[in-house]
Amino acid sequence: MTPPPTSRQPVEPVRADIGLRVEAEMTRLLYRSAGFGLYSNFVLALVLAAGVWTYFPARVTVGWLMVIIAVSFCRLALNRAFARQVRQDDQLRRWRARFNLGVIAAGCAWGIGGWLFLHTDELLPRCLVAFIIAGMNAGAARSLAPVKLCYAAYNITTLLPATLTFLAYDETGSWTLVAITLTYVLFLLNTARLHHLDLRRQFSLIFENEELVSTLSDAKRRAESANHAKSEFLATMSHEIRTPMNGIIGMLQLLKDTPLTADQHQQIAIASKSADTLLRLLDDILDLSKVESGRLDLEEIDFSPAEVGEEVAVLFQNQATGKSLIVDFQADPDLPPVVTGDPMRVRQVLLNLVGNAVKFTEQGRISLRIEKVRADATEILLRFRIKDTGIGMDAATQQKLFRKFSQGDSSMTRRYGGSGLGLAISQSLVRHMGGEIKVTSELGQGSEFHFELPLQPARPTAGEPLVPATPAGRLSGRVLVVEDDWGSQRVVENFLRKLGLEPVITDNGAEGIELAVRQQWAAVLMDIQMPGIDGFEAVRRIRRRLEGRRLPIIALTANVQAEYRLAAAASGMDDFLTKPIRQSDLRARLEQWLQGPAAKP
Ligand code: ADP
Repeated sequence: MTPPPTSRQPVEPVRADIGLRVEAEMTRLLYRSAGFGLYSNFVLALVLAAGVWTYFPARVTVGWLMVIIAVSFCRLALNRAFARQVRQDDQLRRWRARFNLGVIAAGCAWGIGGWLFLHTDELLPRCLVAFIIAGMNAGAARSLAPVKLCYAAYNITTLLPATLTFLAYDETGSWTLVAITLTYVLFLLNTARLHHLDLRRQFSLIFENEELVSTLSDAKRRAESANHAKSEFLATMSHEIRTPMNGIIGMLQLLKDTPLTADQHQQIAIASKSADTLLRLLDDILDLSKVESGRLDLEEIDFSPAEVGEEVAVLFQNQATGKSLIVDFQADPDLPPVVTGDPMRVRQVLLNLVGNAVKFTEQGRISLRIEKVRADATEILLRFRIKDTGIGMDAATQQKLFRKFSQGDSSMTRRYGGSGLGLAISQSLVRHMGGEIKVTSELGQGSEFHFELPLQPARPTAGEPLVPATPAGRLSGRVLVVEDDWGSQRVVENFLRKLGLEPVITDNGAEGIELAVRQQWAAVLMDIQMPGIDGFEAVRRIRRRLEGRRLPIIALTANVQAEYRLAAAASGMDDFLTKPIRQSDLRARLEQWLQGPAAKP
């Protein structure tokens, strides 16, 4: 075991800048602790003068007293001057020298006093002088210790004359007195030295700790700002990539519906699949950055867990049939029809887990089950189970399953694709919602993933339907599109025409506002990020100028962050579509706003 540090251990070398700060602080301490010493110096001089008054000529005593008072006043003035303003560390060397001079002057004055008043045969004045000088030296051993040699100078100047005087006594025992005095001198010098070392060590530790704290908080600040920059970068990149992706995916969708050869159909199918994969990867990375920076907001809306499960299963049934696989969904008979939570995130996790099950299973059955574990007035606990008869996993793969970018082995990427992010994100999402994904699996036998989610009971509604609109017939009317990106303009224009609507395009907010308020429109599609007047500002101005007149405005944006949705709603937009826009989504939204109950003024 390392022994605790004692004052006897050698002082470790301190860094030059910390050394300078320590010296400076010791000098300040010297001045701070000198005040009381000065007053006691003055009082003790009066006591000594009164004590020896009858034994020595008055002029000797008064003369000495005057010297002591003059030196004390000079030192007092020096102290005041020092205290009057804050001194920089590098100015303190001179102040240290001035203090030392003052101390040597005081030491000499007391040394002369000792020498003067010990020259007598009377015991009383001798004892008085010896006690006062010894006592003052004991006190000064602490107060003058902060600066090296300061105390030594005081000690030698005060006690040397007295010691010499003892030597001059021709009484027996005077040598003993000298020996005692020298021992006392050594003892005091050592006490002052140890105190000096202690002070140095303490100040060094304080300054080192201060530096450490400031380095750590600096590093923390830098890490936080780097993390923030990373999230910003990911959000911006996602936005910037989504805009051209809108053009690619939209055009591929349009191209698919034109007369094509079989080869061309296949090529377009491959291009669409690659674009979808790229988009999914983009979403995964954005989700991950949100989860990591703690900016993931969960929605609280009413939804049917059975509908979400059914939807996911149906989605994969098409993919699975090519493999002689059955994807089946079972909901507990007593599953609550509606609960409150974030259906998008629940769907996202199920899509990932069922998607993996389909990906890693060649034949057999994949089952998705949702069970009610328990329900009371405040909480409904649901269990989701995803079971497959696929390749399974060994213990090593299971252990690193939920780490970012981790896959069974590198051959997985080549054979099955994927980024190794899906399970890491799903686990983060489920944890965020209050659950934990667990897995049981056996190599070659299949796997089962399951998690439980605490959801809330549905809030009582005023009888409103959950889905507002039902499609009814063909759409008609003029739609104003405010969008600055050329590719997105073409995609939306084509989609609208296919839906039977008449698009009018403008590429800037200012013109968009004028057109929106001066002409009649079935709806407005408004891009958010545009140079000049952005979509938020344009909609605020349109709403102000329409003075309550009804006009459905749907935001178009490549930014998928929840804050954006809120800001869009706050600016007066009715709905929100994220790019890349899909024809089916656009149709659903427009049907809702042009034909559903929402369309009625
Ligand atoms: P990826 O996008 O690569 O599928 P995931 O995080 O979703 O990333 O999965 C990571 C790894 O976990 C996969 O590469 C695979 O090795 C393993 N895995 C996940 N689900 C299953 C499953 N149902 N059966 C077998 N292995 C699985």
